[in-house]
Amino acid sequence: MKFCALGSGSAGNSFVVQESNTTLLIDCGFGLNETISRLDRYGIHPDQLDAILITHEHEDHIKGAFSLSNKYNIPIHLSHGTFKMAQKKINTNYNILFNFIHNTKPFSINELKITPIPVPHDAREPFQFMFESNSKSLAIITDLGFVTNYLIKTLKEITALVIECNHDKEMLNNSDYPQSLKDRIGGMYGHLENMEAIRLLKAINHKGISWIAAAHLSEKNNDENLVRQLIAEATNKEMEVIKVIDQKDGLNWLAV
Ligand SMILES: [Zn+2]
Ligand SMILES: [Zn+2]
Repeated sequence: MKFCALGSGSAGNSFVVQESNTTLLIDCGFGLNETISRLDRYGIHPDQLDAILITHEHEDHIKGAFSLSNKYNIPIHLSHGTFKMAQKKINTNYNILFNFIHNTKPFSINELKITPIPVPHDAREPFQFMFESNSKSLAIITDLGFVTNYLIKTLKEITALVIECNHDKEMLNNSDYPQSLKDRIGGMYGHLENMEAIRLLKAINHKGISWIAAAHLSEKNNDENLVRQLIAEATNKEMEVIKVIDQKDGLNWLAV
């Protein structure tokens, strides 16, 4: 299995998971042309995409999803709640095949087994995803207010992990954001602060993880080097296997 990121942050999230001839796009938070050019950086043509998985209806996750799906006939997988909330953004002329996620029930796309993972976030019915193939596993976990026991249990033996490290609590509190925005981001249904991500890493079997990629970093209220350092301290891993996904440049292919 292979992973790359087109970019991650509040201005757009999109990831690719590939196994043999199966290529999946996870979220599509960039516009149509931007998505196509970012895919091209990694040698992917949209025709190669077997499916688009959508985690939730926020704009930084769905911006180009429906136009891409319509243009290249790529089926979309999403929850009923996400569909309901995103419906007004789906052009009525579009011809899209929607596949609905049934709670945490795993499903398969070719050789990839996909397990939806519910997370606490201020969206209608958000799910993040775990991918499994050939006894390797990858989870992409962003957009959650806090780490649930269910998440810890599900990710216990994961072999590669993309995890939201949204903000440093103190930097957010001291920022010039209005109080209402601070409350939203820092709240139970907002975004994961660094130390919650660290709590998750410490609670799972991190020795078995080959690499960790931090995602959805706040441009104003976080620091890339701080995140790397916190992860290194918590897991005793070498810096080379600790990655940060850039908003603009994404993250190049990594083998799982
Ligand atoms: Zn987001
Ligand atoms: Zn969100």
